[in-house]
Amino acid sequence: TTFASLGLAEPLLRAIAEAGYTKPTPIQAQAIPQVLTGGDLLAAAQTGTGKTAGFTLPVLHMLAATHAHPHPPGRPRCLILTPTRELAAQVEESVQTYGKHLALNSLVMFGGVNINPQITALKKRVDILVATPGRLLDHAGQKTVDLSGVEILVLDEADRMLDMGFIRDIRKVLALLPKKRQNLLFSATFSDEIRELAGGLLHEPRTVEV
Ligand code: AMP
Repeated sequence: TTFASLGLAEPLLRAIAEAGYTKPTPIQAQAIPQVLTGGDLLAAAQTGTGKTAGFTLPVLHMLAATHAHPHPPGRPRCLILTPTRELAAQVEESVQTYGKHLALNSLVMFGGVNINPQITALKKRVDILVATPGRLLDHAGQKTVDLSGVEILVLDEADRMLDMGFIRDIRKVLALLPKKRQNLLFSATFSDEIRELAGGLLHEPRTVEV
């Protein structure tokens, strides 16, 4: 398998080559074509497997291929939820790296830091928002972010989010999203709790495990 054979657009293939990747990892080879179909995905993947590129690459491809109407500031098309600020920052850095030849904007936000710079950043166009659940809800409550345009939801390290007690926050976020959207759930483990979350969230998902 090559990245080109997975159907990714040329600006992404260029960024991948510049990152020094020669071929997709197993999770990427399985997840990327599925995400590109627009279908939901349940993926079991540990850190280090290349899971981040497994969802960021096809998300970037799909957002670049279509336009949002309307697309006002502070209204992301893709929402990526992560359990920690460190992971949020890493994921957003990957979005930047892989998306550097595309005209898409990303933003990362997490708690424990001043909210004001985030409010300023949300006054610009944002295509991909990477966030931790609590701070995202703060913004939603202040209406500094508008989640009604989310086309793709990614839950990264969902098992850690549950372990950290974020289930109620996640459910509050879900209630703010449009019903019709694509959902991608990544988890290192498939516990009963994860299966229950997935059962309520995902519509006819493909499952990939590596
Ligand atoms: P992740 O599992 O997403 O945290 O990624 C683990 C590491 O693998 C990161 O440092 C990536 O830059 C790297 N990586 C991701 N995909 C590939 C690939 N196809 N070839 C080589 N390295 C990769």
